[in-house]
Parts: sequence; structure tokens; C-alpha cells
Amino acid sequence: MRSTVAYDYRARQHRAEDRLESHRAEALLVTHLPNVRYLCGFTGSAGALLLARGKRFFFTDGRYREQAGIEVQSAKIVIHRVPLMDAVAQKVARVRLRSLAIESEHLTVAVRDRLARQLKAVRLRSVSGLVERLRMIKDAAELQAIFNAVQLGCWLFDGMLSRIRPGIAENDISAELEYAARRAGADGMSFETIVASGLRSALPHGRASSQAVPRSGFVVLDFGVILAGYCSDMTRTVHVGKPPAPARQMYDTLREAQQAAREAVRPGVTAGDVDRAARSLLRRAGYGRFFTHSTGHGVGLEIHEAPRVARSQPDVLEPGMVITIEPGIYMPGQGGVRIEDMVAVTETGHELLTSTRRELITL
Ligand code: ZN
Ligand code: ZN
Repeated sequence: MRSTVAYDYRARQHRAEDRLESHRAEALLVTHLPNVRYLCGFTGSAGALLLARGKRFFFTDGRYREQAGIEVQSAKIVIHRVPLMDAVAQKVARVRLRSLAIESEHLTVAVRDRLARQLKAVRLRSVSGLVERLRMIKDAAELQAIFNAVQLGCWLFDGMLSRIRPGIAENDISAELEYAARRAGADGMSFETIVASGLRSALPHGRASSQAVPRSGFVVLDFGVILAGYCSDMTRTVHVGKPPAPARQMYDTLREAQQAAREAVRPGVTAGDVDRAARSLLRRAGYGRFFTHSTGHGVGLEIHEAPRVARSQPDVLEPGMVITIEPGIYMPGQGGVRIEDMVAVTETGHELLTSTRRELITL
């Protein structure tokens, strides 16, 4: 509920409304909570926003009366006593709308049916990604908020280096990291912290387990914080004990691939071009089949946003986008490595937001 920056909600609402015409809809019902937050500032866990021909209504229940009063901007607050969708339907009928766009990716079939039953004279138009496409381009205040979250992540990582040693359980590492994050002011973690040590480092999504860090091997630490609503995401792989030559070679190759992908980031290239920069380097080095996921993803109010940075992905990068660059190599029975940074696309290229060094750290 802390609001340190002023976002221009009215301008965002206008941009969303401008897109309605191409969907042949007079109004937009926003039910996905990160989209609701983006458009009017509400951070609670129950609510919906209706943008209807210059009129804006935010619906929530009595629990959020006070919070909505503090947070919601550029919309009239409606505290509903009937079920949320019934309240929305009543309003839609009162404003005499004939067509209503709904966020098809975020509305259950049951809720859609309920709306349709109550609004027989209204055409429901399924739209997908309308607000998400606006959210892809971050404004200056958002870029600052994301930078702050990334910097907190880097600071937390530095603090954890002295804690990673043989014998400590992965769960203890994640617990200490998350405690430190909350004490430093994080709203929470962006996702379940990944601590994958030894052979488990070959699991791309090795959530922290009760396993102890072995005497020698990689430890992959992938985590993010949410700070003032915005997510960070970073991965570093360290080696406990002296790395054998194949491990060092794997790491150094991955670091080159990660750098190649980062350097490919600039306006006008496609997300697929960035993916290919990492993938082709790993393929030439013989690790191609051990890179089993995409190179990155957008980050903002949510940890996974558009654009996806994946093979053949046609989205063209534009200034204001924030993406991760996170190739990895995973060799079952041996171990794995991943390096993940966040970068912002700028007018001339990109800005690297993650400041933690990428050389192999040996503990
Ligand atoms: Zn990550
Ligand atoms: Zn990520």
C-alpha cells in the first residue's frame, strides 16, 4: 500500500480506451488484477475496473472501501454488496452499453456465462493482451521502480555469498535470502526462490529443497523481489570448491552466450533475434541440446510479461521494454549453469540493470 511514485493513470486509461475501437467494443472490463493496478492504482486482491465511454468505475467490496479510497485514481469507486459480476452487469445495463470487451485470458467460462446471462442485449467481445501490450512499454517512473527492485536483488545476492557453503541446506539459503528481502522493504518475492546445488543444478527450475550444498559443485540461485509493486529477476551460478575444467568451460561458454544475447538487445530487432544470439553460440560450442528453455521474458508488475524472448518470436523490441536475458546449460547427471540479467531497451540500444558481476565466483 505504499505509493512512492505518481503514475499517470488517466493517460493509461486513455491509451486502453483508444484500442477499443479496433475490437469493436464500446467499453472494457478489466478483471486481471495487475491490469487493474496498472490502470487505476488499486493494489488489493479483489476488484474490477470498467472503462465505459469516458466513464470509469472501480468495483470492490466492503473490505477494501478504505484502501480503494486511498489508492484508486481516475475512477468512481463502487462498493458492491451483490456478487462482483452482478454489480458490473447492473452498471453496464445502466450505462446502456451495447458491446463490452472482456479479458478472455483472465475470465473463467463460468463468469463469462454469468455476464452473458445478465446482459442479453450486450455483445461480449473477447480481447487478449490489450492492457498487457500497453504494459510492455514502461514509462520513466516504472523504469526507476524496476531499477530499484533490481538493485535490491543485487545487494541481497552479495549478502548471501558468505552464507553459501558445503553443508547448508538449500532451504536455509532461500529462507535467509527471503527474510533479508522483507527486512530490506520488499513487498515479497517475485516467485518461489530457486536454489539448486550439485546435481540439482541441472534442473532449470530446482526450487530450494532440504538438500545440503555438497562439498563441490555448482549452486544456481535464481530469485526476485517485488519492491513497490515491481518485480526483479536475477540468476547467478557460483561454484563451491575448485571447479574442474569441464565445469569451468561450461560456465565460460554460457557467460559468452549470455553476453551475446545482451549485446543483441536494441530497438528494431525481434525477440527471436536475441534468443538466436545465445542459442547459436551454445549450439556451435556443442551445448545446443542442453539449453532447454527460452532466453528471457518481459518483467514489470508481473514476473512473466510480454514480450517472450524465445525462438522465432516476432515481437520487435522497442524503447521502454524490460526483459531478462537468461540462457542456461543443463547436463543431467553432471550439473547446470544459468546467468540472468535484466536489461531495458533504450533509444540507442539497451541499459543493463543488473550490476552483479558475471565472472564465475568460487566459494
Ligand atoms: Zn529468474
Ligand atoms: Zn526469469
